[in-house]
Amino acid sequence: MPECALADGLMDFKGFDCIVIHFGEISIKGNNKPDFTKRLYANIKHMLEGVEYEKFETLRDRFVLYPKNNNGYARSLERLGRVFGLSWYAPALISESSMDSIIENSEKIIGNEETVKIIAHRSYKGLDFTSTELIGEFINREKELRFSIDKNSNSKLYISITKDRAYMTRERRAGLGGLPVGSSGRAISLFSGGIDSPVASYFAMKKGLELVYVHVHAFSDNEEAAGSKINGLLQILGRYYNSIRVYYVPAYPFQSAAMRIPHRFELVLFKRFMFRLAERISDIEGTDAIVTGESLGQVASQTLKNMASSQSGTKQFIFRPLIGFDKNEIIEYAKSIGTYDMSIGRYKDVCSISSIRPATGTSIGLIDRLCGSISMDEVVGRALNLAMRKDYKL
Ligand code: ATP
Ligand code: MG
Repeated sequence: MPECALADGLMDFKGFDCIVIHFGEISIKGNNKPDFTKRLYANIKHMLEGVEYEKFETLRDRFVLYPKNNNGYARSLERLGRVFGLSWYAPALISESSMDSIIENSEKIIGNEETVKIIAHRSYKGLDFTSTELIGEFINREKELRFSIDKNSNSKLYISITKDRAYMTRERRAGLGGLPVGSSGRAISLFSGGIDSPVASYFAMKKGLELVYVHVHAFSDNEEAAGSKINGLLQILGRYYNSIRVYYVPAYPFQSAAMRIPHRFELVLFKRFMFRLAERISDIEGTDAIVTGESLGQVASQTLKNMASSQSGTKQFIFRPLIGFDKNEIIEYAKSIGTYDMSIGRYKDVCSISSIRPATGTSIGLIDRLCGSISMDEVVGRALNLAMRKDYKL
């Protein structure tokens, strides 16, 4: 067995029978658990499209995937690393739940290690030996083995014993944690081409929300927006949940109406426009919340007063996963998620709005009046009529 430091594509998975997959947060969800596990199972299956495997079992406390060949192992492991709701996963050898069988099988996956630390756990307590007794037996029979047992060894053998099988693994790869996408419901994500909203979308998905993206663009036609970096950013987020729905909505109905109001209020009014738009799309999609990449105090439009006056009148719950993050923290997340480089690329922003010096202390009453003066509901309706919906299956 080659060492695990090799890239998965180069690793040899001979000796392993399957990949065991353990749930994250969902294992503490009590009555909801069957729904959560069903959702997680479906999401993993979705993610494994194109990967060859014999079967994919669902057990009480774990899933077991049987990839067909070496390539199947490598590709499965890489994809499992991008599924929300997993606690850990690992290639495993399956043995019978007897001390003899476990000890005999251990050599198949230990390779050339000289010392090994055994970590054993019984999830079925009806067996005639305890985990401590199993470790004792390994020590008793050390002379028959190619390796010795050492509780300080860095090289580990994990043994998880169920009623009739023991799963033996050499490593535990950390999953992304969180909840399966879709298990908390569906939400509209207000998605710009910036750094923040892709990160906010990632965290919303991590908390189990399936997103419908809404992007308001400054192009003269929707296809141009769909061919822009927005598409590239969505493809990156699609690595974490591979079916994507997006609405491209032209900004010009709003921009032309906003010519009638003082420039410095335009940005807050644009936010109000986007929340209204999000709610109208939510009526079509049956979603229950709105996600934004806002972070308190980050830019002029994100003062507490401006956030309050832009969201006023919005009935839906607004989820702002980044509200308390510093920009540097958000940038670090963007880098690790993979969206940063594309986010900082050039983009045709809704620019007349971003270039002005915006008011920082607007009141709800003022923004209400401005909305009335431009007939905001009609403006939203016009923009929506010009919108284009697109579905991607990655
Ligand atoms: P981001 O980096 O996400 O663009 P930002 O720091 O530029 O955010 P704002 O421009 O005030 O801040 O945008 C705050 C939030 O409003 C964004 O995170 C996004 O949720 C939403 N938003 C901004 N512009 C658009 C747009 N053109 N289309 C859809 N949503 C948008
Ligand atoms: Mg922005």
